[in-house]
Amino acid sequence: MQDDSRKRSAVPVMVPVPADRPYTYRVPEGMKISPGAIVRVPLGPREVAGIVWDDAAEEVDPLKLRPISLVFDCPPVDADTRRFIEWIAAYTLSPPGMVARMLLRAPEAFDPEPWTEGLQRSGAAASRMTDARRRVLAVAADGLAWTRSGLAHAAGVSSTVIDGLKAQGVFDTVMMPPRPVVAAPDPAFRTPGLSTDQSEAADMLRRAAAKDEASVMLVDGVTGSGKTEVYFEAVAAVLEKGRQALILLPEIALTQAFLERFQERFGSKPAEWHSDVPPLMRERVWRQVAEGGVRVVAGARSALFLPFRELGLIVVDEEHDPAYKQEDRVCYHARDMAVVRGRIGRFPVVLASATPSVESRVNALQGRYDRAVLPARYAEAAMPVIRAVDLRRAPPARGQFLSPVLVGLVRETIARGEQALLFLNRRGYAPLTLCRACGHRFQCPDCSGWLVEHRFRGQLVCHHCGHHERRPEACPQCGTLDHLVACGPGVERIAEEAVHHFPEARTIVLSSDMPGGVRRLRLELEAIARGEADLVIGTQLVAKGHHFPDMTLVGIVDADLGLANGDLRASERTFQLLSQVTGRAGRTGRRSSGILQTFQPDHPVIRALVSGDADSFYEREIAERRRAAMPPFGRLAGIVVSAGTRAEAESHARGLRRAAPAASDIEVLGPAEAPLALIAGRYRFRLLVHGGRKSDMQGFVRTMLSGGPKTRGTVKISVDIDPQSFL
Ligand code: ADP
Ligand code: ZN
Repeated sequence: MQDDSRKRSAVPVMVPVPADRPYTYRVPEGMKISPGAIVRVPLGPREVAGIVWDDAAEEVDPLKLRPISLVFDCPPVDADTRRFIEWIAAYTLSPPGMVARMLLRAPEAFDPEPWTEGLQRSGAAASRMTDARRRVLAVAADGLAWTRSGLAHAAGVSSTVIDGLKAQGVFDTVMMPPRPVVAAPDPAFRTPGLSTDQSEAADMLRRAAAKDEASVMLVDGVTGSGKTEVYFEAVAAVLEKGRQALILLPEIALTQAFLERFQERFGSKPAEWHSDVPPLMRERVWRQVAEGGVRVVAGARSALFLPFRELGLIVVDEEHDPAYKQEDRVCYHARDMAVVRGRIGRFPVVLASATPSVESRVNALQGRYDRAVLPARYAEAAMPVIRAVDLRRAPPARGQFLSPVLVGLVRETIARGEQALLFLNRRGYAPLTLCRACGHRFQCPDCSGWLVEHRFRGQLVCHHCGHHERRPEACPQCGTLDHLVACGPGVERIAEEAVHHFPEARTIVLSSDMPGGVRRLRLELEAIARGEADLVIGTQLVAKGHHFPDMTLVGIVDADLGLANGDLRASERTFQLLSQVTGRAGRTGRRSSGILQTFQPDHPVIRALVSGDADSFYEREIAERRRAAMPPFGRLAGIVVSAGTRAEAESHARGLRRAAPAASDIEVLGPAEAPLALIAGRYRFRLLVHGGRKSDMQGFVRTMLSGGPKTRGTVKISVDIDPQSFL
């Protein structure tokens, strides 16, 4: 910024390519350029949009450089956002251009939104009055500018009536500015009456939000305690200060009820940002965020890369949710990056969860984060009573998956006119199909994984690469007819069993692969909230943040499922997911319960869920991590080498390992064949780099990459700092 006024003949421009630094371009005579400007530049045979960067450009003879083609009429990307892009690039070991690319993904928004033609009442009188014309003139008498269709609609006439009047000179044509995507939120629209706990937490957030300082607050409150109401007060505080706010939600496309709650509090909805927002709307949101017209965005993790001009708060709701981790291209964790963004922009970040990540709990314990606790549900609602059903003692009938206890409870619940949820985190009908005659198992031809039967669609599907085939009548190996059996349950199979037990119940099955996409899921979720279903059978997407007033029973079909993963976070994740799911029960004050079907009722996770003693669960988990120097007490980086042949992948991975520098506090594990050794025809080997908390992980991995073999042929390397997945 300091050298804004200096006339420069060449500037660095960050272009969306995997280069490790900006490219230098010539500034044509008379073009005014300042850092942050979005420009169009030639790149090879094409032209791309890039961001003018602020490093001193290398000394190059400007005449040898290609010129900038155009400066877009767009607010500049501010210095904080530029530092944020650099920070993420350095931390994730990604090319900065690829991080900048995430911000530049709304190409139509670099030009101003067009103004539209409007009609305004002129002095001229209309001849040949009709009823329709009279109505139009009455509406237009306010002297404001109207669009043709808006005026027709408001007057209840067809647009041709407007045209007729226009032809008589009754209207002047005026240009109208683009309409805001959402109205401005009003922080004083409806201030809530908060409980004592809630007020204390809200005051703490408001105090932090009033300061222009980086801080992180963990709002740790049980499901239904009113965390949303509380963090809305932080949003109100930054709105009062004239700053923008960003609320990240893991499943924003499915949590439309959230938008309505926001509207009740602030009088208008926040702007939405996620992959299901239509392209034109996305462009408008981007532009209006950049211009400052949009004050609050509710979005998925990619909303971190919107061009805010005066961001003053980020809220990360359900901060423990795995959906915040992006695992392709730039591997980043949106929660962690939100904290970084707050530090750079000197503003507060609020993390909210009923089941915080171990990382955030530790940060709060060690005083790096402030913590507000909401120990009870709002108003008279009580937490559900959780009980384990030992499947060794009370097994389901042969070939079935619901124990008699659970079946009985579902029946009673439905009879009382309340709702029950059966949860199983597995899509499809059955995870494995085999031939009873020869033992043949159906496997994906391109992946190391079984094909999952989807009976509704009549197909066997690979959940890794999408490969699908018809379920045959005969075994492809031995040719025996009608001897294929489905092994294990998915939600479709539970639905089949439920129809058998509860033929009269109105049942809704929900999983992300249902036909009809997000629209249909939204409608179904709304129907459930209105009480239009007796029984819901679903995967994790029913767990996230929904408020189902009539739900009083949640049955977990297989509480052991996530524990079998055996990775670093298996216990934590299972605890979080099952707490969330059982937390759907009893949110409006009725007695409610959660049933965990398990073969290991003594497992610490199951015990913690049954006793409701989250604190001792976290204590154990934290002690375990500390002992093993696992995050957050140690650092990890995952490196996956994939290639078209197994030999290529393996030898490249070995080469990388040989290039590891000597370090006292970092070790390399592997390479080993990845648990998912083959995905979409690519063979995969994994290296895991494990270091102490203060170790220079990035420096170490960078040395490995630069000293290792040159990537050639089909070899690809992907680096994941702080990996969440080890598959
Ligand atoms: P959480 O996010 O902690 O699970 P929510 O914020 O969704 O909890 O609140 C649970 C329910 O309680 C919601 O229906 C919400 O409207 C209601 N609620 C919470 N706090 C208040 C309050 N202070 N006034 C009115 N309703 C509240
Ligand atoms: Zn596959």
